[in-house]
Amino acid sequence: MQEAIESMVGEYFGKYLPESLARAAIVEVGRRTFARGFVAANDGNISARIGDDIILATPTGRSKGFIREDELVKINLAGEKLEGPLRPSSEILMHLAIYKTRPDVLAIDHAHPPICTGFAVAGIPLDKCVLAEVVMTLGVIPIAEFAPPSTDELAEAVAAKMKDCNAVLLANHGAVSVGKDVFEAHYTMERIEHFANISLVARLLGGEKLLTANDIERISEVQREAGAKMPTVACKIGPDGSASCGLGSDSASPQGSSASITGSSVKGDVSGELVAEVLAAIKREFAEI
Ligand SMILES: [Zn+2]
Repeated sequence: MQEAIESMVGEYFGKYLPESLARAAIVEVGRRTFARGFVAANDGNISARIGDDIILATPTGRSKGFIREDELVKINLAGEKLEGPLRPSSEILMHLAIYKTRPDVLAIDHAHPPICTGFAVAGIPLDKCVLAEVVMTLGVIPIAEFAPPSTDELAEAVAAKMKDCNAVLLANHGAVSVGKDVFEAHYTMERIEHFANISLVARLLGGEKLLTANDIERISEVQREAGAKMPTVACKIGPDGSASCGLGSDSASPQGSSASITGSSVKGDVSGELVAEVLAAIKREFAEI
């Protein structure tokens, strides 16, 4: 059933979905978001644009794992409710601001996956050219500066970053991804979290080895030959020939971050000794229970 929904949605890629299919797709992505542990309690929100001036969004105050199709809220781009028994998500302003800035975006996923949110909390953007597939699909994942949830200020900060990217970390909060349908937006969220996991492990092991400008050129060449486009964000080349994405490093809120590029690898705050210390403390804690 779930596979059937995804394949039906795929037929409309880049076009407005029929409302009944959009409802089923949002509910399914909600289940996946919950099952992957990308949200706690009632956190997170998902929406789809199903007409020039019609957005279908998750309601406020409900776990994303257990939403019913008839609980979704229909609103217009001005934020006025058109239909639905509940109020729309409290983060709807952020969704509307992104839809207004990016007419090509047809779906938005907002969640708090723990590892990429950890990077957002540490003020470390995922903006280094480390994984070929991320370079090819997402480019940079910058951090939008902190603003309180549900405010115009947050909506504007995220929409401004989303002009050039399909995924943005929210300082001290979580992540937002966009797509041409809800599954694409969700898969981008999975990709951000996966990238953050790998980056964290690499940092624990001594730091990421960055792709070089030459590596990026070779990746671009393969993409060009396959007729695919690279993300539009240009790479910055360091004095040692290593590449990092052109956006993001100056756009992060760097509070508390001591991440720095050393040679062709990135070192963060996390040292092996610190990890061992934390693990030992956790063991002590649990031994006492
Ligand atoms: Zn949130």
